[in-house]
Amino acid sequence: MAEIKVVGAGLAGAEAAWQAAQRGVQVTLCEMRPAQMTPAHRTAAMAELVCSNSLGSDLVDRAPGLLKAELRFLRSVILSCADETAVPAGGVPAKARRGSKPVQRAGHRRSVGLRVVCPRQGAAG
Ligand SMILES: Cc1cc2nc3c(=O)[nH]c(=O)nc-3n(C[C@H](O)[C@H](O)[C@H](O)COP(=O)(O)OP(=O)(O)OC[C@H]3O[C@@H](n4cnc5c(N)ncnc54)[C@H](O)[C@@H]3O)c2cc1C
Repeated sequence: MAEIKVVGAGLAGAEAAWQAAQRGVQVTLCEMRPAQMTPAHRTAAMAELVCSNSLGSDLVDRAPGLLKAELRFLRSVILSCADETAVPAGGVPAKARRGSKPVQRAGHRRSVGLRVVCPRQGAAG
């Protein structure tokens, strides 16, 4: 069986690991937080949204909208969590930045064949 390692459980890494695991690949997802934090991230949660809270336009004639449409078509775990937890934000999908279920939800959605490696605080070498 194919095996891959994905380094970094941010938005891209969490999605890539999830998608590969859905296709029967054995995935090890390696995340350095909380042992090693970044200047931007505030939590140890996977798929933390490091930003205000807007995912940009949903219009498919705009680049962010087209990208999200493609992600939805591919059953993106990140987008499904964002859609489930969207809050009104002037016509664009938005979700709470941190400390709320939406941000962490994708990271909590485990999949068969997906193993997460995350060092404990103080364990980084
Ligand atoms: C201040 C700010 C505001 C922003 N506002 C918005 C916004 O409003 N809307 C929007 O859509 N985007 C916004 N962005 C951009 C958005 O946050 C990024 O595009 C997105 O987080 C990129 O996802 P990523 O998975 O590539 O990287 P990240 O989400 O940064 O994930 C990278 C992951 O890799 C881990 N990592 C790094 N190195 C290692 C290593 N050696 N070993 C193990 N793990 C490692 C990190 O801890 C992290 O979890 C903003 C960004 C910033 C900084």
